[in-house]
Amino acid sequence: MVKETLNSCPFCGGKADIFVVNDDGENNSEGFIASCNNCGCSTIFCESEAEAVTLWNNRAPNECENELVKLLAIIVDSWDCELNLHSKRMRAVLAAKDLLKSYAD
Ligand SMILES: [Zn+2]
Repeated sequence: MVKETLNSCPFCGGKADIFVVNDDGENNSEGFIASCNNCGCSTIFCESEAEAVTLWNNRAPNECENELVKLLAIIVDSWDCELNLHSKRMRAVLAAKDLLKSYAD
């Protein structure tokens, strides 16, 4: 059915497939997404199957997700340790503020 091979999921390593979907827009047109069968992450709506495959296989590392993971680690760390609780929480709050500001620009 699908000629091109989809890489494994960049997030969980699961197997991905191409799915035919409707875009829910006024045109109600049919399109394609590549989606992981395991974790459910997917590409955006694509007009062709080849486009969805290319998009999935060339998926760039997601800057936003990387930053969120780092921030989450700081927050977990700040709540995980009873020592220096105040300064660690303050650092986590400041890091969160910086991140929110960078995405608000
Ligand atoms: Zn996955």
